[in-house]
Amino acid sequence: MIPKDHPRYASLVRREKIANAAWDKIVAMEGVGSHGRGEAFDYLIGEKTTDTALLAERTAAAMLLNAKQAVISVNGNTAALAADLIRDLQKESGAMVEINLFHRTEERMRKIEKLLRDNGVDVHTGPVERLVPLSHDRGLCTRDGIYSADVVLVPLEDGDRCEALIGMGKKVITIDLNPLSRTAKTATLTICDELTRALPNITAAVKELKGNGAAADELIKNHDNGKLLDSAVTSIMENLSNALGRKV
Ligand code: ATP
Repeated sequence: MIPKDHPRYASLVRREKIANAAWDKIVAMEGVGSHGRGEAFDYLIGEKTTDTALLAERTAAAMLLNAKQAVISVNGNTAALAADLIRDLQKESGAMVEINLFHRTEERMRKIEKLLRDNGVDVHTGPVERLVPLSHDRGLCTRDGIYSADVVLVPLEDGDRCEALIGMGKKVITIDLNPLSRTAKTATLTICDELTRALPNITAAVKELKGNGAAADELIKNHDNGKLLDSAVTSIMENLSNALGRKV
């Protein structure tokens, strides 16, 4: 039982969700490690949504709205932490949701699909083929889902899949607290924020931008991913400088 008045309550709740999901075989043991890396970067970023991350979230909303076919690619960590938030974003944006796993077993696929459906997510399923040029199982996807998408939101992704999707001509939006990761540097749009803070902000922005195509177009026109990454690194350096009491 995590006390509600603990100063890092939200972070501890997320950690507990990941641990429970690992016991339930929804999150792979490797996913527990990925979560730890995310926690470390969240500490450095200050465990808050920066102004630049919010801009990235609004731009993501614009890209989802302007897509011909948007797909949210969900892995075990994303399902464990944010099944309900994925449902809200899907409802608001109309994006498809497809499961894609690094450590893919039939059992994990079934469990994650059930968790998502129990939370009200409309999960796109169907026969999968190796349509993304990757030698491992993340190359598997449905032809009418991820393969046909022009915009793919891939939270908590790793670099080679991001690169492969970009190589297929897709616009890739990622949510990744580590601005130095290969994914962060390769994606079309990188949101350096914690998943469960980022998703509600994207959903709220989708709602707001729906009736304002000009504002959405403007966000996309002004998007500069290099600037977003620079700003995330600068936030980390400022936090370190504050902790040390001198400039790093
Ligand atoms: P790359 O191949 O892109 O360099 P990696 O090896 O770090 O990435 P993974 O271990 O798959 O890739 O981790 C996924 C990324 O997700 C990590 O950079 C981690 O910081 C980030 N991450 C983990 N949990 C969260 C979270 N809850 N919110 C946002 N980002 C997270």
